[in-house]
Amino acid sequence: MRQKLAAGNWKMNGTGSDLAELAELIQSQGTATSELMICPPATLLSRAADLAQNSALTIGAQDCHSEQAGAHTGDISAAMLKEAGATAVILGHSERRADHSESSNTVAAKTQTAWAHGLTALVCLGETLDEREAGDTLKVVGDQLAASLPEGATGANTVLAYEPVWAIGTGKIPSLAQIAEVHDFLRAELTTRFGPQMAEATRLLYGGSVKPGNAAEIFATSNVDGALVGGASLKAADFSPIIAALDAS
Ligand code: PEP
Repeated sequence: MRQKLAAGNWKMNGTGSDLAELAELIQSQGTATSELMICPPATLLSRAADLAQNSALTIGAQDCHSEQAGAHTGDISAAMLKEAGATAVILGHSERRADHSESSNTVAAKTQTAWAHGLTALVCLGETLDEREAGDTLKVVGDQLAASLPEGATGANTVLAYEPVWAIGTGKIPSLAQIAEVHDFLRAELTTRFGPQMAEATRLLYGGSVKPGNAAEIFATSNVDGALVGGASLKAADFSPIIAALDAS
C-alpha cells in the first residue's frame, strides 16, 4: 500500500514569521494518515526541521546541486540539506527547468546525489501548453521520465510529481480524464522499466493549482497518490482541507 503524500512547495516564499503556519499545521494535522511534507526555502530548513521534530510533518528542500561539494557559488549540496534536517528534495521542478535551463540529464544527476545522501527525490515532470495542444503530452512526459530517473529508483527513494507547466500557479487544471491518462501512463512506464513491485510502491503526485475546492476530485482520480501543492500550501488554513481531502480519499 502506498502512503498518500501531501507535499507543499513554498518556492521563494517565507521568512521566520511564516514558521507559525508550520506550527499550526503540526497542531491541526497531527492525526492525518497521509504523509505531510513542507518544502520551505533553504534559509528556513533547519528551523522548520526543528519545529517538525517528533511530529507527523516531514521537511523537504526545493533543489540541490548534482556535485557533492565545490566551487558552485550560491548552490546547496545534498549533504547540506540532509544536515539541515531535510528528508527529501524536489528535483526538476518546471521553474528550475525553465529559469535555470535544467535538463532531464541534470535532474538525473541531482537525483543520484540526493539518493547518495539518503534524501528521497521528488522528481517533477510536465508538459507546456504548446506541447499539450500539439498532442505531445505523453511523449514529453515519457521522455522526461526516462531521462530524469536513473537506474536504482525505488518506491522508497523516489516520488514522481506530474505537474503540467500550464497549470502551475494559473488556477487552471487538466480534466480529470487527462490527469488519469498521464498517471496511468506513468505507472505503466515504471512497470516496464523497473518492474511491477517498484511501480506499485512509487507514489505519483499531481501538482498544478490544487486547491481546497478541487482536491477531492483530483484525489479520486486513477493512480493519484497525493499532491504537490504550491500557493495553497503557504497557509495552514488552505493546506489543511487539502490534507483532509487526501485522508478521506
Ligand atoms: C508547484 O509549483 O509545484 C505548484 C503545484 O504550484 P501551484 O499549486 O501554486 O500551482
